Amino acid sequence: MSSSEFITRDCPVCGSDHATVEVVSSRRAEDMEFKELGPFWYTFGEEKVFFSYARCPSCGVLYAPSFFSSEQLLKLYSNMPANMDVGAPAAIDSTQHSYFKTIADSAKLEGDYLEIGPDVGHVARHAAREGSFGKFWFFEPNEGVHAELADSVQGKPYHISSEMTDLSVVPDGSVGVAVMVHVLDHLVDPVDLLRQTRTKLRPDGVLAIVTHNEGSMLRRIMGKKWPPFCLQHPELYNPSSIAKLLHGTGFEHVDVSRAKNYFPFSFLARQAARLAGLKMDRVPLPNTVIGLRLGNMLTLARN
Ligand SMILES: [Zn+2]
Repeated sequence: MSSSEFITRDCPVCGSDHATVEVVSSRRAEDMEFKELGPFWYTFGEEKVFFSYARCPSCGVLYAPSFFSSEQLLKLYSNMPANMDVGAPAAIDSTQHSYFKTIADSAKLEGDYLEIGPDVGHVARHAAREGSFGKFWFFEPNEGVHAELADSVQGKPYHISSEMTDLSVVPDGSVGVAVMVHVLDHLVDPVDLLRQTRTKLRPDGVLAIVTHNEGSMLRRIMGKKWPPFCLQHPELYNPSSIAKLLHGTGFEHVDVSRAKNYFPFSFLARQAARLAGLKMDRVPLPNTVIGLRLGNMLTLARN
């Protein structure tokens, strides 16, 4: 009864059905019932539960062959809190500003700006301030952040949609910079959205994607305790598998670099303590923000 509640799928990148299971939680999500999984959706409790991840032998992507249906995902996402799950505002802004600086190093900041999953507009705010973009196109399902997002462009023209799967409102060939920060590895069908995004880019346009890196040192050290192994990620990428995905959707040039994440020091210390089995939540710690390359990557793709 329980397993039939979830969908079963072949590799979402290349369609192969020969994947080998590689990472499993003690209790596997695919063996549980949907109604039991709610508490594991966004909390970082003592027990971790996720859908088993398997490695595709053809394209190398790590993906969950069993996963939530789109109806189930809609229910789960509509109960999400409005903000990101990690860190203080200063740390989030430092992280997102560093993403923008990397994009600005390799893209002309003109044409239109497109962002899928912009949240309150952390990156868009820098794009509006430091670039010469025409219109800002946002696809953000969380309507609770739309007002703050509209504010982030500081008077520039914008369009906000609650869609995440249909970009047809954006004119083809108009976008100079397209951005997805921690979006791609939440998508059950990444190929379709990447193809759509590619048609929106100008000939010199750049798509910038921030994802976790399942090939990172941090993942190897933490094993199945690595936080991105969770119910929110139907796929996880490494530099090689994301490059294959992007080449397969028509991008000619793909450049992957490790991205820096900024965390408040107290957050890092508590995470380290939790790994070591200590309880430090009551210990006062300084809130200094520090930058570390912690298992994320920033991928730039162009035609
Ligand atoms: Zn594959």
